[in-house]
Amino acid sequence: MKYDILIIGSGLGGLECGYILSRQGYSVCVLEQNPQIGGCLQTFRRGGTVFDTGFHYVGGLDEGQLLHKLFRYFDLLDLPWRRLDANGFAEVAFHDKSYLFASGYQRFAETLAKDFPHRRKQLSNYAAFLKQVGDNTADSFLPGSNHALSAQSLLGRSAWLFLKETIDDPLLQQVLSGASLTMELCAGKLPLYVFAQINSSFIQSAWRLHGGGSLIAEKLADGIRRMGGTVRTKAKVTRLITKGNRIDTVECNGEEHLDSRYVISGAHPALTLSLLDGQAFFRETYRNRINRLPDTYGMFTVHLQLKENTIPYLNRTIYLYRQPNVWNYCHYHPRAKTTAVLVNFQPPRAGRTCTANIDLLTPMHWEEVAAWSDTAVGNRSEEYYRLKEQKAEECIALAAERIPGLKQAIEKIYTSTPLTYRDYTGTRNGSAYGIQKDYANTMLTLLPPQTPVSNLLLTGQNLNLHGILGVSMTSFFTCARIVGMENLLRQL
Ligand SMILES: Cc1cc2nc3c(=O)[nH]c(=O)nc-3n(C[C@H](O)[C@H](O)[C@H](O)COP(=O)(O)OP(=O)(O)OC[C@H]3O[C@@H](n4cnc5c(N)ncnc54)[C@H](O)[C@@H]3O)c2cc1C
Repeated sequence: MKYDILIIGSGLGGLECGYILSRQGYSVCVLEQNPQIGGCLQTFRRGGTVFDTGFHYVGGLDEGQLLHKLFRYFDLLDLPWRRLDANGFAEVAFHDKSYLFASGYQRFAETLAKDFPHRRKQLSNYAAFLKQVGDNTADSFLPGSNHALSAQSLLGRSAWLFLKETIDDPLLQQVLSGASLTMELCAGKLPLYVFAQINSSFIQSAWRLHGGGSLIAEKLADGIRRMGGTVRTKAKVTRLITKGNRIDTVECNGEEHLDSRYVISGAHPALTLSLLDGQAFFRETYRNRINRLPDTYGMFTVHLQLKENTIPYLNRTIYLYRQPNVWNYCHYHPRAKTTAVLVNFQPPRAGRTCTANIDLLTPMHWEEVAAWSDTAVGNRSEEYYRLKEQKAEECIALAAERIPGLKQAIEKIYTSTPLTYRDYTGTRNGSAYGIQKDYANTMLTLLPPQTPVSNLLLTGQNLNLHGILGVSMTSFFTCARIVGMENLLRQL
């Protein structure tokens, strides 16, 4: 079968590229190895309760904000989005003291200034900086924009050094970083742009999706099909057969052969390159460079199914820490006790005031589970299950200090580790956000969509920014290589 575009993976990046190119009139086929589409947007259902796996909330979805424009293009605005509490969409709690992140740059600064009155000016400058970064995000779509606040220049600066230089209260530095636990706050690596852009979009406005992230994937897939495209599951790309400098045939499930003018891969770049066959032309330096790039850490998630009417829904995300040492988690000792956890409440059904499930997330390095890397879901040793049980207990104990009655309210517990993510999304080492970006090494760690193979393009979180907003922007950068950015911007 011959298509214009074959896409590897139905994660957000793959589906969005499929949607954009279908809208441009190309014949598109998305190939997903799993029975369920969505990659990190997959959900699972137990006893009528829907659990998210790699999605909890998004930022910048209010009218006029960037994600709103992107999601209008993708026809995703009419999903059941629920706005988080504008007076405190996030709460950063260190042991016994909590700090609220309010929506709107000015209100954000003013709210924190109540706790840090002596740093009012610094907070106001910080919020103004985030606003400028947010206002300039759209510039990333324009070729050649490299002013002082552009993505180009901020990617080459350190987030941690910026905080140290602009905020002189050590506790406030930790508070401002507190809602970034899952971002892998690595002082020697994290680019200022990643930190500032993501925090900025959440401060603009923060939203949950009632019913789970899979609604996004299903709506995009429906759109692709409506426009004549194809989205297939249980269709694992097993080989990219090359002729000269281009992919000639895509092999699916080890037997079926498909042809296309372009191949776009939303899978991890190292995995994508490992699929290439007949590589005489291929520059080994490129492959070695990609293979050597480290990935961000993974996540351990505790999904709590709760008894009915036990825990009131909280319209904000809580970040709990035993100590204000937010930037230490990228170096934590693998078997050390859990001391930080993100608490996410699922929005309740209409008319209900209590939540049916809560997710607890904490960083987890691959080394903690590497011993079982040769095993598959549902078939691992007792020791692995004991490790999960112990880690879950630690997360619950920490969360219970903030949520009274939590332990008694638990009906069932489900857990996932980086091994689970690896098995369900194909991500290298179960990393949560893929290739780790390094401000001192942007040339190496930020990948362009194009590759040395003339008709192979990359997309997804590994290239640029992770998260729903970052991946959505990257989808446009990838498709612009085929249809031109000006053309896409007109439609946006
Ligand atoms: C625990 C966790 C929590 C998160 N929470 C949030 C959040 O609250 N807000 C937010 O904005 N972002 C969040 N993110 C990040 C966000 O979910 C991701 O950045 C984004 O969904 C990644 O999309 P992607 O398309 O790049 O990759 P993926 O979702 O990983 O998709 C890749 C797809 O490719 C498929 N694939 C791989 N190899 C093959 C093959 N050979 N053949 C066919 N298919 C293949 C995989 O099965 C997968 O479906 C979270 C991530 C994690 C892990």
